Amino acid sequence: MLNIILGGAPGSGKGTISELIMNQYGLQHLSTGDVLRAEIKSGSVLGQEIDAIISKGNLVPDSKMIDLIENYLNNLAPDCKGVIFDGFPRTVEQAKALTELLTAHNMDAVMIDLYAEESVIINRLINRGKTSGRADDNLETIKKRLDVYQTQTKPVCEYFLNLRKYFMVNSNINPTCTFSQIEALLTMMNK
Ligand code: ADP
Repeated sequence: MLNIILGGAPGSGKGTISELIMNQYGLQHLSTGDVLRAEIKSGSVLGQEIDAIISKGNLVPDSKMIDLIENYLNNLAPDCKGVIFDGFPRTVEQAKALTELLTAHNMDAVMIDLYAEESVIINRLINRGKTSGRADDNLETIKKRLDVYQTQTKPVCEYFLNLRKYFMVNSNINPTCTFSQIEALLTMMNK
């Protein structure tokens, strides 16, 4: 199995790159942001709670996110070739929980971190906001999300670095360039 934790700030290209990896390697794509937005769309009480958190640029509580991942892993098809975790883990607490859950399922994962400069990211998100309809793609919330990323999510990189499971690729240029770096990395790892 090839399991990839796709890291990177909002706007670093996780969604786009996930699709390219998914098509090339036949992996499943789990975007926690997409799962949360689907819950909001359903209009449930939980969805309303989540909406209030996401639209302010804050993180959904760890316990809710960990339950979601646990449930996902418990229902994984036996012939699954691997999973791309897009948007999870976003805190060290979530990273520790994921490590335990993967071990319990006899699975392993590497983190591939997409690095893009802040000015590039802000431009991308502002542009995306023109068509995405996402309540969090406005300048004020983007800045909050970048702040949350630096304080709460960046430490996840160090966590996987310490486990020797961390790789960074340059995501400043375009998706093709980012993806070819990932292909080279996976070839190097014999994946
Ligand atoms: P982006 O990477 O552009 O921020 P996502 O779709 O990954 O977009 O996430 C959107 C929002 O969903 C986040 O700002 C956060 O509020 C919530 N979210 C997604 N994944 C998680 C997670 N693992 N833990 C907590 N909140 C999350």
